[in-house]
Amino acid sequence: MSTVAAIATPNAAGGIGIIRISGEDAIKITEQCFKSFSGKKVSDMKGYTASYGQVTDKDSPVDEAVVIVYRAPKSYTGEDVCEICCHGGLYIMQKVLRLVFSLGASPAGPGEFTKRAFLNGKMDLIQAESVMNVISASGDAALNAARNTLKGDVSKKISEISSLLISSAAALAAWSDYPDEDIPAVESGELRKTLQSALDSLNKLLQRYDSGKAVTQGVNTVICGKPNVGKSTLMNVLSGCARSIVTSVAGTTRDVVEETVRIGDILLRLADTAGIRDTDDEVESIGIDMAKERIDTADLVLAVFDVSRPLDSEDRLLLELCKEKRCLAIVNKSDLEHSFSSAEIQKYIPVTITLSAKNEDSFNTIKDALENILGTAGLDFSQEMLTAGRQYDNVKKAAECIEEAIFAIDSLLTIDAVNVSIDCAIEQLLTLTGKKASEEIVNEVFSKFCVGK
Ligand code: GDP
Repeated sequence: MSTVAAIATPNAAGGIGIIRISGEDAIKITEQCFKSFSGKKVSDMKGYTASYGQVTDKDSPVDEAVVIVYRAPKSYTGEDVCEICCHGGLYIMQKVLRLVFSLGASPAGPGEFTKRAFLNGKMDLIQAESVMNVISASGDAALNAARNTLKGDVSKKISEISSLLISSAAALAAWSDYPDEDIPAVESGELRKTLQSALDSLNKLLQRYDSGKAVTQGVNTVICGKPNVGKSTLMNVLSGCARSIVTSVAGTTRDVVEETVRIGDILLRLADTAGIRDTDDEVESIGIDMAKERIDTADLVLAVFDVSRPLDSEDRLLLELCKEKRCLAIVNKSDLEHSFSSAEIQKYIPVTITLSAKNEDSFNTIKDALENILGTAGLDFSQEMLTAGRQYDNVKKAAECIEEAIFAIDSLLTIDAVNVSIDCAIEQLLTLTGKKASEEIVNEVFSKFCVGK
């Protein structure tokens, strides 16, 4: 594999900038552009040691720097790695990087260092994915979940389950393929028990995913309601700043205003949309079409109603649209005279809260309701948690295959039928950890990374 380099710190001015070089020639390249003040050569440095000196371009000084050397396999990537820690000016970092390129390194792609760590067996694909989650964690709960996954908690669980399945499949195959040998019969009751316990473990991971996602990845949320019910005011309560335009003229929130806000441990990706009524106003109707589409695709709908005005056809349209969705109804303007009872709303949307967006307590009322509806209230973030959609899909498919295997046993189908389903589950779990993932899957995972990680 070629030697690659990239700026590992943000692409912005800072106190220190780190140029990371990984690969066979990392040490040779660094030695050619760095002279330590002590006279020690980079090639004589042991792993995990640092040296203070000068980055030079053909003997002319570029910057003072500290070089840290990591020797294979004891490095992040598993290869020889040098980190040049220079001053964190954009120009200086680019200059040092260009110098490193001129000496033979190639530019690292997005996530290339972590990809190399994966390819060199330093971590599996689940752990690699969690690296980005550690970086993007926006609160303690999300950080805990990501850190535990990076440590290998989920990987260990998945390995245990796949080992169980592999032994079962092997025993079944041996028994059916070599009927003349003296191989003990596989007892279907025992096999069923093993499969059921694997299925239970996978289902537990799946159940926790949704709640965990609210914390680690954020919930795609839409605020809906007819004009003037208080959507923008609520959005501002949640985001803590005057982001949407709040006015008393109906229909002023024409566009979708998007914002990510953290409410306790929950991350809401909020879109505040126009109302949902039928309209002749072309500009407004574009916003309204978007609102309907957003309700369809959202993970969570915050449906807002104005208790000071009787429920009308627009409100009822929204209630209909929300019937099948995960939805929190917010009956707003409770400080004004009530024109309907919240029980009306509850018939369609079970979780309904009544509040005044103008009241300071409203944030906490919404927070408590969200924690309940998203299931994060009693969630233990120290337990294994899937943290990416890809992981969820693989586990779900594996669970479905195990269900099929159990069905095959219960229906007294052939051993082959049972084995095909177990094999399919194993395949999914091996793809999940990356042991058998295709190049496309691996590339897809790392394409989401930033350069330098
Ligand atoms: P939107 O069109 O749904 O985004 O509604 P806005 O957030 O722009 O609010 C419309 C009007 O209702 C504004 O004048 C707000 O100040 C007012 N409003 C919002 N929430 C409350 C509330 O809880 N009580 C009262 N009395 N007025 C509110």
